[in-house]
Amino acid sequence: MNGDAPHFVTFQSGSFRGDAAEKGSAAVETMDVTVGDIRMTPEAPFQEAKASVDLTKSEIIVAVGRGIKSLENIALAQQLADALGADLAASRPICDSDWLPIDRQIGSSGQTVAPKVYIALGISGAIQHIVGMKNAGTIVAINKDSEAPIFDIADYGIVGDLFEAVPVMIEEVKKAKA
Ligand SMILES: Cc1cc2nc3c(=O)[nH]c(=O)nc-3n(C[C@H](O)[C@H](O)[C@H](O)COP(=O)(O)OP(=O)(O)OC[C@H]3O[C@@H](n4cnc5c(N)ncnc54)[C@H](O)[C@@H]3O)c2cc1C
Repeated sequence: MNGDAPHFVTFQSGSFRGDAAEKGSAAVETMDVTVGDIRMTPEAPFQEAKASVDLTKSEIIVAVGRGIKSLENIALAQQLADALGADLAASRPICDSDWLPIDRQIGSSGQTVAPKVYIALGISGAIQHIVGMKNAGTIVAINKDSEAPIFDIADYGIVGDLFEAVPVMIEEVKKAKA
């Protein structure tokens, strides 16, 4: 960090994994701060839109990309999410197509998340998506293209058709939970 103190640092929620935080060597001082007159008040158009789902709190996320092919097939991903107790998320094209609402979008123009497990179904792994989920604890990717960039950051990968793999996963999760 350049320049003289004081420095002011903020972090976007979900940008770092809290459980991986390490204590630094800097002295921590508690200070009484008196805030003077607040001269600026944000008006309604500048306030953050209230999201119906806060994916930054999710422990498990099942995310769908264009590989899901159609709106009707989102139900398959929802079944996997239900079996795992996960939240459903998506890449941008899915939200742009209104197959899922915008507050489910992960990435540079969506939410930044750090769940324990992130399962990417038919997501190529474009940088704008990766920046929103790269801090997940364990990343599982299913993609029929072995060269898809998502495999560069995946801990586990299935090179194959998600429409074959996902029904098997749902059955196995149900069996394991029974
Ligand atoms: C300014 C800007 C901001 C952006 N912000 C975001 C953002 O916030 N979030 C975001 O996600 N994107 C964002 N994007 C878009 C981003 O660049 C990509 O276009 C997008 O992430 C691609 O989405 P995708 O992986 O679902 O689709 P694709 O790139 O089309 O990938 C689909 C994948 O599915 C696989 N597939 C196809 N069929 C199957 C099957 N049957 N089984 C398994 N795999 C299959 C394919 O092999 C392919 O890898 C942004 C772009 C710009 C320019």
